[in-house]
Order: sequence, then structure tokens, then C-alpha cells
Amino acid sequence: MSFTLHGIGVSRGIAIGPVHILRPQVEINEYRIEAEQLPAEIQRYRNALEQAREELRKIRDQIPLIYPARDNTGEVDSGVSATAVEIASFIDPHMLMLDDAMLTQIPIEIMKEKHCNAEWALQQQHIRFTELFEAMDNEYLQARKHDIQQVIERIQRRLLRTQQPPEEEPLDAREFPEGCIVLADDLTPADTAMMPHRGVKAFVTEHGGMNSHTAIIARSLGIPAIVGLRSARRYLRRGDTLVVDGLRGAIVCNPDVRSLRYFKILQTEQKRRRGELSRLREAPAVTCDGQLITLYANIEFPTDMQAVKRTGANGIGLYRTEFLHMNRDDRGQPDEEEHYEAYVHVLRAVDGPVTIRTLDLGADKQVDGGASRIGAVPANPALGLRGVRLCLKDLSLFKPQLRAILRASSVGPVRMMLPMVTSIQEIHQVRQLVREVQRELSAEKQAFDPDMPIGAMIEVPSIAICSDLFIPYVDFFSIGTNDLIQYTLAIDRVDDSVGYLYEPLHPAVLRLLNTVIGQSLNAQKVVSMCGEMAGDGRYVRLLLGMGLRYFSVNPETLLEVKHIIRHSDLSKLHPLTQRILHSQDTSETEALLAQINAL
Ligand code: PEP
Ligand code: MG
Repeated sequence: MSFTLHGIGVSRGIAIGPVHILRPQVEINEYRIEAEQLPAEIQRYRNALEQAREELRKIRDQIPLIYPARDNTGEVDSGVSATAVEIASFIDPHMLMLDDAMLTQIPIEIMKEKHCNAEWALQQQHIRFTELFEAMDNEYLQARKHDIQQVIERIQRRLLRTQQPPEEEPLDAREFPEGCIVLADDLTPADTAMMPHRGVKAFVTEHGGMNSHTAIIARSLGIPAIVGLRSARRYLRRGDTLVVDGLRGAIVCNPDVRSLRYFKILQTEQKRRRGELSRLREAPAVTCDGQLITLYANIEFPTDMQAVKRTGANGIGLYRTEFLHMNRDDRGQPDEEEHYEAYVHVLRAVDGPVTIRTLDLGADKQVDGGASRIGAVPANPALGLRGVRLCLKDLSLFKPQLRAILRASSVGPVRMMLPMVTSIQEIHQVRQLVREVQRELSAEKQAFDPDMPIGAMIEVPSIAICSDLFIPYVDFFSIGTNDLIQYTLAIDRVDDSVGYLYEPLHPAVLRLLNTVIGQSLNAQKVVSMCGEMAGDGRYVRLLLGMGLRYFSVNPETLLEVKHIIRHSDLSKLHPLTQRILHSQDTSETEALLAQINAL
């Protein structure tokens, strides 16, 4: 029987193959260990810990072989690739956990105290952790909970193997069935990193979020992936044929001949389309009637520049520098030098300007140990100390970054962008700090661009409504629709229970966008858009119709956006854009949007 299930698509693409189900749930039973057997039981536990360490070491050692460094010509270099380093950084925390007393000591104490078997003691420790982490209402710490769970499961698998060889231990298997689609409760980033090497085409997990490390790795490896597909294992059987549609977050189980043909056509079509779009790399983003549009790329990591280079982007419109502060574990926070090197790497890899957004930490982007650094996690973190607010409060965090940005501005064209600006006062404060840092650098004879542009993101209704008042104090604006929509419609962007209300076409959102773009154009102030809306093909013509001339989008979608721009005639967009802006309900807007996209 054929049926469809929906989860959260985190990495797009279509894959078709037999499903390979991992980690059948194991039942952990408690049994008594007599005093004289305790030393052997403790040794059994220690052996399992060592085997788990060995497994991770092996995975880590193989990474540079799987992701070798490449030079600019694509030739294999002798160094270790940045992707390999990035992936290894997800494995190292798991290795550290295996050496922590929480796993080396406490389960042994439980065994001694309760005279119980190793699996049961470990399970008790797992329950304690789960309770502890569930009491913390913070997405970043929730992700740590998954890390601990994955490490504990790894040890449990070793323990159960020594007790009785289970029927399947596919995660540790050397080979998966070639071309299979893995279905698991959850996957560790380390396991995910090995997927392409083991011939896995795609994966589906029952748990996990859009921002989990596993999802990040899937995207960087280009494997179609869906997470959060609850109860999938209840409905699927080993060997079922599965279609994974990573874009729509849907799987089709045992598709009939017609739908299989449909997905195969779609797959071929996507491949052909990617090939066709790649030819646009050198082409300018110019409309049919001759208007040149600037197309920047958004990046999170310096390593994203490999993907950016394939697009021929005009520069970087959003560099989310807060990612430099994440997944660091015992490496501490990055210093000025690390910031500087990352910026210079990006500047050297692209021809156009690089828009470095100052740290947008806070809300769902907490640093390691973030709670202790910035105080207890607040009840409404999205409305709390985040973005420029946090930077202005914690100069030990902000000043090294300002110094690094200014120094980098002597290497290439840098634009500095401030997130979460809500008042003009914040811009004055930042400019004051910039002047201070410039004086310091001059005294140290360090080079910088004294005219480096400083811009503000439009992410909050307060700045959007009166952007004209901010214009004299900024060199450019960039509209962050991800937050602007969240704050305008009062919808938490990370809460999937209200996701259906997240509506870029809401009249309030459209009016705000039109106001900001219109006021900026009147004042001849550069305004770009770097939120996801800019990279969504459905809205490109509407935004062009509103007057947007600078787009900053994910490298994955950049060439698609360029294609739409090159097939748009600005002179025809105006009347329909006006009708959309005056439309009273979303269904009418949708119909008008379909018309504008069909022009
Ligand atoms: C935005 O809010 O639209 C944006 C680009 O910033 P981020 O997604 O990093 O919050
Ligand atoms: Mg934002």
C-alpha cells in the first residue's frame, strides 16, 4: 500500500531507494549483580566505553580521507579540508563526553549502590540527564541533550553486543545496502558525516529540528533529509521503497508505478535544471528591460564560500558571524584574531563586498555556555538580550569583533551590518564604539577603511515603520524577513505549532516591506533583503515590483533567483504589485501572485 508522511524537510533533493531502518528500540532490563560479580560488570562497562571511543576515533580518522582538501582547481591537496575540520568539530564533543565523569564514574557508582547491571545503571543516568535538560527551555541546550543521548546509545549498543549479539547493528555496520535511505530515531552528526561514504542516498529521522547539527551536516553534504517525522518507524518496514522529497519534507512509501514515474521525472528534471542553472554563473542578473539587479549570497561558515563560488554571486550580503561562536565546546570563544582570519578568508574568496553582520547571538542562537555568559535564559528569548543589544551590553564580546571587522576592511570591501536594531540610539552607540576602535587601531598603526559602510537590518517593526527617521544614520539597510515576519505577526519562528501562521503575504508584512523599500529609494539609500523571502522564487517578482534591487540569498537558490530576474520585465510588474499591496485577503493575494509569476 502506498502512503505519504510529512516531517520537516531540512535538506532538499529527491531520493528513491529501499528503506534501511536503524536502531530498533532495545528494551533495557534490570537484573541483580551480586557483590562478587560487580568488578566484572564494571569492567564490562569500561570495555564498552573504550569500544565506543574507538568507534568514534575511527570515524574521525576517516574523515580527511572522505572529504579531502581541494585547491582552487578542484585537485586534491595534501592538507585537511575545511569540511573535514567542520565535521570533526561535531565528533569531538562526543569523544569528550565519553571521558567525562558523568559517564566514566556515575554509572559505576549506581552499579555499586544498586547492585544492578551496567545497561540499567547507564539508563538511570540517561533519565537524570533527560530530566535536567528538559527543565531547560532553550533550543541550544536541547540540542546538547540529543548529543548526550546519542553518546549513551552508542555505549548501550556496545554493552548489548557483548551480552548477546543483536540481530542488527546497522549503524556500526561497515556497509549499508548501496543506495538505501536510512530511517532512524535520530542520527548523530558523526553518523551523518559517514552517510555518503556508506552509499546512503538520503535519511529520515523521527526527531531533530531544522537547526540540529545533523541537519546542518546534511545540508553541507547535499544529502536529501527529513527530520521530525514522528512515528515513521511504526509505519515503515525494512526494504519498503521510499521516495524522500527533502524540499517538501514528505516521504512516499511504496509509491505506485505512476507516482514512481512522476518522482523519477522530477528527479531527472531537478538534475537537468541544476545543470542548466549552473550555466547562469557568469550571466548578469539583469531584467528583460535592462535593469541590473545585485545578487549577493548569505553564508554561515567561511567554508560556504565553495558553494558561493559556483554561483557567481556579486558579493556576500549576509555573513552570520555568530556561527563562529557555536559548537566550540572546550575551545573557548573566538578571539579577535580568529574573527579576523575568518573574514579575510571570505574576502579573498569573493570579488564583491562582504557584508559582515555583527554577532546576532541570543534567542535560538546561544553560544556554548551562553546562559552563564549572558545570564539566565529569559522567558522570551526572542524579545530579550539578542543581537546588537547583547553586543552593546557585553563589550568584551563586541569589541574584539569590531576590531577584526575594521582590520579586515583594509583587505577588501567590507560592510558592517547590525542585527536587531530597534532605536537610533543603538546606531549612535555603535558608531561611537567604532570611532573608539578606529583611534586604537590608528595608535597601533593597524590599517582599516575609515569609510567602511555601517548598515542596519530591518528585522523589527519599530525600525520598519519609521525607517525614514533612521536613514540619515545608516549607510544601507537590509531587510531580515525571517525576524520581521516573526515580530510583526507575533509568531515564534522556531515554534512549529504556529508555523502555519507564518505568512510573508500578510498585508501587514507587505506594507512594511513596501514602506522600507519606498522610503529608502526616495532617499537614495541602498536597501537589500537577506531574509529567506528574498530567496523564495514565489516572491522575487513581487519584490522587484516593490522596487527591490539588491537580493541576498542562500547559495543553493541564488541561480534560481537569477533566472527569475532575467525573465522578468519590470515595466509589467508595477500594476499587479499595486493590486497585491491593496488586496484585503490572502487568497486574493495568492491569486494575484500567481498572475505576476505567470507574466
Ligand atoms: C532575518 O531575520 O531575516 C535574518 C536574515 O537573520 P537571521 O535569520 O539570522 O535571524
Ligand atoms: Mg534575524
